[in-house]
Amino acid sequence: MLEEQYDVVIVGAGPAGATCAMALEHTGLRVAVVDKDDFPRDKICGDFIAGKGVRELVAVKPELKERLAKFPRKVINTKTHFYVNDLEALDFNWVLKSYTIKRMDFDHELVQVMVQLPHVSFFPKQRVKNVRLTADGVIVETLGKRLKGKIVVGADGAHSQVAKHLADFKVDKNHYGGSVRAYFSNVKNISPEINEVYLHRDVIPGYFWLFPVSPTEANVGVGMHSTYITKEKINLKERFYEFIENSPRLKKKLGDATLEGKLEGFGLPFFSKKHVISGERFLLLGDAASMIDPTNGEGIMPAIVSAKLAAQEIEQAFIKDDFSAQQLHNYTKALHQRYWTEMKLKGWVVKYFANQHRLINLVGWACVKSPFLKRRLQKLM
Ligand SMILES: Cc1cc2nc3c(=O)[nH]c(=O)nc-3n(C[C@H](O)[C@H](O)[C@H](O)COP(=O)(O)OP(=O)(O)OC[C@H]3O[C@@H](n4cnc5c(N)ncnc54)[C@H](O)[C@@H]3O)c2cc1C
Repeated sequence: MLEEQYDVVIVGAGPAGATCAMALEHTGLRVAVVDKDDFPRDKICGDFIAGKGVRELVAVKPELKERLAKFPRKVINTKTHFYVNDLEALDFNWVLKSYTIKRMDFDHELVQVMVQLPHVSFFPKQRVKNVRLTADGVIVETLGKRLKGKIVVGADGAHSQVAKHLADFKVDKNHYGGSVRAYFSNVKNISPEINEVYLHRDVIPGYFWLFPVSPTEANVGVGMHSTYITKEKINLKERFYEFIENSPRLKKKLGDATLEGKLEGFGLPFFSKKHVISGERFLLLGDAASMIDPTNGEGIMPAIVSAKLAAQEIEQAFIKDDFSAQQLHNYTKALHQRYWTEMKLKGWVVKYFANQHRLINLVGWACVKSPFLKRRLQKLM
């Protein structure tokens, strides 16, 4: 098989991989991006793209600001309603606008911008099977291609082949979550600008969500910590339907709704432990680097941030012509500097408090009664 030469090979064209390719535009490096799927493609997700994440993305590629602003199939999200057990809604208003866009659409937008860049060669429908180091580079193999680079970027999500082959990644259930998600149409009593989060004794440690994607459609799901799913032998799909059935609030919204497609599950690699995310000739980004916030499951913004930091380090590595583990460890340091204090604390909160049903209820009740406490809580989020 003919070997194709690039400077950088990025595996995965989700938010992490596409952002990294865009962030390398000014470097003049030749970048190959390879993905197992063709786009548009779905990714099981809650579809919530935090305002801060959009800001980070636009800083990399300013034209995305207008593209996303004009994009018709989105909702602008300005509020979250938290329902703690059977208490009335705790309504949080956000200053920064966020988007809820189906990943089928959002990721396709990013890829469309990425493929226009002259330094990028995109290879969809190429599932990476193997990644190996050679004396002077790294080889990425699919069934039909052999791509050689000076450096490989693993942006291939929670089941990353790059992390498996080069970082010896194995799932650690103490730092992992499980989740299921479905789309419903004909949903009643929802407002597009309001995301709904349900913290209830039946779904903690974790939460149930209903995120509108249009005035009558919603992305609905539940995610829980893996230790608890295993310990209590929870079937998440059953728990999802039982929770709706037992919630008068949700029955009003989803009682007559139509399930579109299937209820599907996917893993959440949490950033509550320090993983190996760089080494000789490789960097891991986003879910491949286990960067999901353990308190709320947010992973798109960390994926974008990791992509930006990785691009900076890749540029340095090429300037110095040094692709050693020691040089690339600067990326690990930068990422930990940005996130570790926050994520360590969040991991600790999840471990010790996320299952404390009575405490959560008490905090929820106190915040419903006291706008001051509610504001304090919102500041912590
Ligand atoms: C149910 C659920 C709900 C979530 N809700 C939210 C939310 O509302 N907001 C939020 O911010 N985060 C959410 N997340 C997390 C978010 O989905 C991820 O953090 C985010 O997708 C990470 O982006 P990524 O680019 O790192 O990986 P991905 O988006 O997974 O992209 C990886 C890419 O790599 C490709 N790939 C994988 N394997 C290979 C291979 N072997 N060869 C070639 N290509 C490959 C895939 O096709 C894919 O395109 C949720 C996660 C789940 C599971």
